[in-house]
Amino acid sequence: MSSRIPRFTHEGVKDAEISVHPFATEDGLGLSLTRFRRADCDDVVLVVHGLTLASDMFIMPEHRNLVTHLLDEGFTDVWAVDFRMSNRFPYDMETHRFTLDDCALYDHPAALAELRRHVGDRRVHVIAHCLGSVSFMMSLYGGAVDGIASVVCNSVALTPRVPLWSRYKLGYGPALAEYVLGFSFLDPRFGEAPVLTRGWMLSRLLSAFHRECDVRACHLLSFMWGSGRPALYEHRNLDDATHRRIADLCGGVGVHYYRHVHKMVEAGRAVKYDGRDRRFTALPDDYLAAAADVGTPVLLLTGDRNKVFADSNIVCHKRLEEAAPGLHELDMLPGYGHMDPFLGKNAHADVFPKMVDFIKRKAA
Ligand SMILES: [Zn+2]
Repeated sequence: MSSRIPRFTHEGVKDAEISVHPFATEDGLGLSLTRFRRADCDDVVLVVHGLTLASDMFIMPEHRNLVTHLLDEGFTDVWAVDFRMSNRFPYDMETHRFTLDDCALYDHPAALAELRRHVGDRRVHVIAHCLGSVSFMMSLYGGAVDGIASVVCNSVALTPRVPLWSRYKLGYGPALAEYVLGFSFLDPRFGEAPVLTRGWMLSRLLSAFHRECDVRACHLLSFMWGSGRPALYEHRNLDDATHRRIADLCGGVGVHYYRHVHKMVEAGRAVKYDGRDRRFTALPDDYLAAAADVGTPVLLLTGDRNKVFADSNIVCHKRLEEAAPGLHELDMLPGYGHMDPFLGKNAHADVFPKMVDFIKRKAA
């Protein structure tokens, strides 16, 4: 095996039949599901990545990954979606004006339809991260998908909240990046850009403020995503190989999604980006408005060092509990940040068992 882990590899999942299932959205994008199957089982699990990530976050070869953990725990039919936020596709680095409403209306319903074509009416449980979690919950609470047996949301769900510095960045960053600096997307690989290009200059400027490690992509990702050094994870939770290849796992990000997140942060809850846009009339303006009618139990997980979405899931649990008392659960992950609950080298011991325990209890 080469010392460098190849990108987009399936080698992290052993002893499973792996198949890729392309599907299309109503607005014309090609997306895909990857199936990891050992045997048919009554409880199918679908894992949903966050923005800038991809299905790769669940199948990393350098540690015991979530898909392998689920297969070994008896969930022998696991599916990973790559939706429009995936870095396996070019969509977010192209000129676009997608928002989380697009993901909620077009992507998750199409993914579920393709999944159902193969698994029929077996129970489907979802584990989702970051803006994959927000947009999937928007689908579920907006009535675009139903029949989900349980959902695990990491870091954030229907009440995005961010630290004060991130709030400024979300407010002013997209316009500054697009109209002043000329960046339609931000790329963790700017550190490798040719000398004196704008990307190179931004990378060098940021690295001057980030002395916590020598990985320039790590500094850029902290700038892109949160408030901290580093912002996305605790360094000590990552395998060194993961830290070194972090730009393989987290791709470039178009700045427009930040505008929708900013709108939600200001509103204190998931709201539609543009209430006048007729394409989205099927979705509610306020995604928590009908929360009492949703019967799917949700486990809200958050690291106690979450420097991206702060206490979002603690607040979300409170809101959901008010709407449907006793249905939902909250669990804290001591010593963890935003993304290391999946990317961390010890996540299989500290985090995955909490997810498995919840799903097993909801599988009855
Ligand atoms: Zn670092």
